Amino acid sequence: MTTDPDTSQIDWAAFATSLSPVPVITEPALVKQKSRDFYWYSPILKEKLHGKFGDLVAVPRNEADVILTAQACVSAKVPLTVRGAGTGNYGQAMPLFGGVILETTSLDKILWVRKGVMRVQAGARLKDIDAQLRPQGWELRMHPSTKRTATIGGFVAGGSGGVGSITFGQLRDRGSIHGLRIVTMNDPPEIIELRGDDIQKANHAYGTNGIITELELPLGPAHDWSDLIVAFDDFMAAMRFA
Ligand SMILES: Cc1cc2nc3c(=O)[nH]c(=O)nc-3n(C[C@H](O)[C@H](O)[C@H](O)COP(=O)(O)OP(=O)(O)OC[C@H]3O[C@@H](n4cnc5c(N)ncnc54)[C@H](O)[C@@H]3O)c2cc1C
Repeated sequence: MTTDPDTSQIDWAAFATSLSPVPVITEPALVKQKSRDFYWYSPILKEKLHGKFGDLVAVPRNEADVILTAQACVSAKVPLTVRGAGTGNYGQAMPLFGGVILETTSLDKILWVRKGVMRVQAGARLKDIDAQLRPQGWELRMHPSTKRTATIGGFVAGGSGGVGSITFGQLRDRGSIHGLRIVTMNDPPEIIELRGDDIQKANHAYGTNGIITELELPLGPAHDWSDLIVAFDDFMAAMRFA
């Protein structure tokens, strides 16, 4: 039998100090803001998750910071919730029992691009990735409609597909992800590189079994996209158009 985590006895000021040199946010209004995703789209989740907040936000600058944060949470039995941009709309990035929000947005570098494949840090925003790839003639194979704000780690951990999926399939399809690097919540935390079918262990797992720090993804040829909304009077007309 498992019991819900109880963080009522934690001295949060001391805990924040123990995370040094990892940048932390303790300002209550900001912590509240970064404890929310788009759960409130659902009337059921809106009621259930109302008032759930983390106690502080850690913003790691590199993998060493991620490991330090994970180790501190494991040692103190503090829950850790991973967050990219918080655009998930099923409450996936909501801290159910308080604790630390680990925000990945400072892990934002493309590490390399070779022959239509890239290795990228998890907190890079999709729009920034495509802007950097474009001069080389590449872009992400697919993106969600939250492309302007969402991170690549959040997309893989919490999303499924989007624009590009008619051509390239969904994230869950074989070949859509070439590799994932994960920091686990073991004591001590481990670093695992997942390849092949093992990728599915962390793909779309909502960060429940590890913190993705790097991803290897195949790319597609860059397009000059024009965003349009086209409306039809009935469903079959829309299908014929598609
Ligand atoms: C209006 C709207 C439209 C959307 N359209 C689409 C769409 O077209 N296609 C689609 O697939 N989704 C869509 N979504 C859902 C969501 O926006 C996307 O899945 C987005 O890619 C999530 O990225 P994020 O950085 O905001 O992740 P977050 O919301 O921050 O996180 C999502 C989940 O991933 C986990 N997570 C984040 N980063 C990591 C990491 N580095 N390691 C481990 N776990 C991590 C979080 O804990 C959470 O469980 C939409 C949402 C909204 C509100």
